[in-house]
Amino acid sequence: MKLGSVEAGGTKFVCAVGNEDYRILDQTQFPTTTPEETLQKTVDYFKQFDDIKAIAISTFGPAELRKNHPQYGFITNTPKKNWPYTDFVGFIKKQIDVPIFFTTDVNGSAYGEYIMATLFNQHVDSLTYFTIGTGVGAGTVIKGNFIGELGHPEMGHVRLKRHPDDLDFAGICPYHGDCLEGLVSGPTFDARLGKKGKDVPLTDHVWDIMAYYIAQAALQITLSMRPGKIVFGGGVMSEAFLDKVREQFADLMNDYVEVGDLKEYLVMPLVKNNGSATVGDFAMALKEYNK
Ligand code: ZN
Repeated sequence: MKLGSVEAGGTKFVCAVGNEDYRILDQTQFPTTTPEETLQKTVDYFKQFDDIKAIAISTFGPAELRKNHPQYGFITNTPKKNWPYTDFVGFIKKQIDVPIFFTTDVNGSAYGEYIMATLFNQHVDSLTYFTIGTGVGAGTVIKGNFIGELGHPEMGHVRLKRHPDDLDFAGICPYHGDCLEGLVSGPTFDARLGKKGKDVPLTDHVWDIMAYYIAQAALQITLSMRPGKIVFGGGVMSEAFLDKVREQFADLMNDYVEVGDLKEYLVMPLVKNNGSATVGDFAMALKEYNK
């Protein structure tokens, strides 16, 4: 069986065709330009395959996921030029009439990691997936379902206690200044230090400051949802940096609730190279097809 995956990002689209074992049979990517051009390229890609059974889309947002809403399947009030109120699902569905599942990029990644955990015999009923990259966001899966009723969660914009050595930094979120995304997204390296994150050695104190904020976010998720594990993807993350997060998390938690071995609780993705959403898309497309 052939299943389609669309990972719609603000800078590029990654489209893939896979099978019911979540294996990638073919993959392509192209830059995100205007909605018309980018979505038509997406359609043209899938049209090369005559027997795609279902497609799942994991998109940048905000997006309207409520099926009973008149704008279901739309990108909504995004700051991205030309993209506000784009009928994403409608555009694809008009030309490829197969079941389509539509969710956020982080939900797609969360679902991919949830499926992989099962394949790795980890028996996790729930997990939260954070991306710490150009933007920051998170999705939570509980027994195969996503949380969020009035809309998808926006965990990247939670408020945090400021690090005493970081009080001069205003943060870069256009809406909130010093929310989580405003303090730890990739572009904060440029804003704080005038260079890219990849050029800042892990010995630089800024990494401790960022670990403090990410640990707070992980603490809030732990205390409010008690998921089986929390996964961290995105370009800013690395195993060495995650160790700093684990240390700060342990300090903040102060043995209040049990989460087991932190090396198994706060983890990097099982799917490498930020491929979690592709696996998630294949699994969600299969689920949609079987409905
Ligand atoms: Zn914000």
